[in-house]
Amino acid sequence: MFGTVEAGGTKFVCGIGNEDGRILDQITVPTTVPEETLDAVFAYFRNKPIQSLGVGCFGPLDLDPRSPSYGSITGTPKIAWRYCNILAELRGRFPVPVALDTDVNAAVLAEARWGAGRGLHTCLYLTVGTGIGGGALVEGRILHGLMHPEMGHVIVRKQAGDLFPGVCPTHGDCLEGLASGPAIERRWGRRGADLPPDHRAWELEADYLAQGLVNYVYALSPQRIILGGGVMRQAQLFPLIRRRVLELLGGYIDRPEILADMDHYIAPPALGSLSGLCGGLVLAMKAVKP
Ligand code: ADP
Ligand code: ZN
Repeated sequence: MFGTVEAGGTKFVCGIGNEDGRILDQITVPTTVPEETLDAVFAYFRNKPIQSLGVGCFGPLDLDPRSPSYGSITGTPKIAWRYCNILAELRGRFPVPVALDTDVNAAVLAEARWGAGRGLHTCLYLTVGTGIGGGALVEGRILHGLMHPEMGHVIVRKQAGDLFPGVCPTHGDCLEGLASGPAIERRWGRRGADLPPDHRAWELEADYLAQGLVNYVYALSPQRIILGGGVMRQAQLFPLIRRRVLELLGGYIDRPEILADMDHYIAPPALGSLSGLCGGLVLAMKAVKP
């Protein structure tokens, strides 16, 4: 049995599961301040027979093992969590190995093992929710590099006449600034969930997301792209995004996976809302059997 935590900005989901990715029990606790939320996490796992614990966490995170702040949440707008060393806190309280990675890196690991990326060595998981973030599995390994990718903050070309300044506190109109859930809400004055499926918001949303995806296709050469997060519950976005990606690629990537199988190339998560939680299981398993 392994322990998993999906640590998000609004809630922490804790669970236990097995080697097959089956979640056997889970609880949700609200994200308040570290002392309180982590106490609830400790309480949940206290008597659970887990071999190891894997945590997929919101970021940005310091994931450089040589850094003095390794395992910390760094520049988050959630002030109470800034510089919280979540890895050190958990390692200090549990006698088992603890592994930490970003929420989206966890999600791509789970999707590659049990879900929409099964059998693939290079794939991408992008969440479009409160923020936009991507996790990349590249030739079987999670890409960390200098820290970890920050795919939501890529620059996209604004549509002519789009005067919306964007909501990213750092960049304004980066992809996240233009296309995250809060960007949709600010731009249209209504939450995405309340906009009708034929609203022109979705055509614009699909264009910006497609531009991001095309950049990732060129830079990382993923065998598949999995799109999750609250905004992607708008199922009509999938065909709009696929069409726009094909247009923007203009036939340049001459591969049947893209030209003939777009419905699989850009896909929803097969694990649904469990990608992150199952990802924690993969991290936990890797912590004992790398
Ligand atoms: P988080 O990113 O905080 O982990 P979610 O992935 O659920 O959580 O994303 C939340 C964002 O997604 C909010 O901005 C919300 O307005 C938006 N959202 C949630 N459900 C929908 C929906 N059905 N249609 C469009 N947008 C949605
Ligand atoms: Zn940004």
